[in-house]
Amino acid sequence: MIVVRTVAELRAAVTVLRQSGRSVGLVPTMGALHAGHRRLITTAAERGDAVVLSIFVNPAQFDEPADLAAYPRSERADLDLAEAAGVSVAFVPTVEAVYPLGFTATVALRGPLVETLEGADRGIGHFAGVTTVVAKLLNMAQPDRAYFGQKDAQQVQVVRAMVSDLDFPVEILAVPTVREADGLALSSRNVRLTPADRRRAVGLSRALESARRMHAAGEHRVRNLLSAAGSALADAGIVPQYLALVDAASFLRVQRVELPALMLVAARFGQVRLIDNVPLPAAPAGEAVSADGASMSNQSAAAIAAAVSRSN
Ligand code: AMP
Repeated sequence: MIVVRTVAELRAAVTVLRQSGRSVGLVPTMGALHAGHRRLITTAAERGDAVVLSIFVNPAQFDEPADLAAYPRSERADLDLAEAAGVSVAFVPTVEAVYPLGFTATVALRGPLVETLEGADRGIGHFAGVTTVVAKLLNMAQPDRAYFGQKDAQQVQVVRAMVSDLDFPVEILAVPTVREADGLALSSRNVRLTPADRRRAVGLSRALESARRMHAAGEHRVRNLLSAAGSALADAGIVPQYLALVDAASFLRVQRVELPALMLVAARFGQVRLIDNVPLPAAPAGEAVSADGASMSNQSAAAIAAAVSRSN
């Protein structure tokens, strides 16, 4: 593994990889690496990509200066994990290398996808910060594929939309969320939880899991799924910033779980804000029910089945 810190060095390293016939997979991170990041790296490596890992705490996507200041940084340990996981090139730029003096560009989407949930809670600048830095990283490394965690489900969708709208020649892949044994989604922010909040935080994944199980057992009424998850959160003493059930592609709230959906939650534990989500797959055509529990017409079920098979 080589460590590079400037865009010129990164480009030179990627050129060498390409000359040896390798495809390139980019894994963008903000460091403080854990087993979730490792899964992104090993997924890329298993696909045969030479892995370029970026470690950059992107100031542009932080809405709270205190959160940026407290964000954990552990470069030495990160590089050890990266090398052991199979990274070929670690790109660890300074803030000045990414945003040189005089930098004024912004890559920003508009519309519900960036205005809802994380966009609403963290401000419109959050996703603009994400898309700006991801656009830059894609241009810097010019990978064949880029790997993102499903844990940040809205971020993946925002990146997909940017790549599609701006014709970036890259494939975006989402990797399932890696969790602690008790279900808590791994996050670099977990190390900042107090022991009491760490115990309480498991309530996030438990609430989502209770909804997932209800859905798998045939409950498709959004009202009931949200109410079950909401009660589980309340039982755990968690007041969510949001608890929502949305269409997995558009992030619009749905009345009925017909197409692939996501239940998402965000909550604060002291100074630490955590997010999690669970995918709710589309109901098989034969089992599709409407929000009020009535069976759907054969025509709608067939339309949904056709849409699902198109998306597979
Ligand atoms: P971050 O360093 O938190 O910006 O995360 C870098 C990438 O790792 C993002 O694509 C995240 O979605 C992904 N990631 C973070 N936590 C997890 C996790 N628990 N499981 C899978 N991917 C994750």
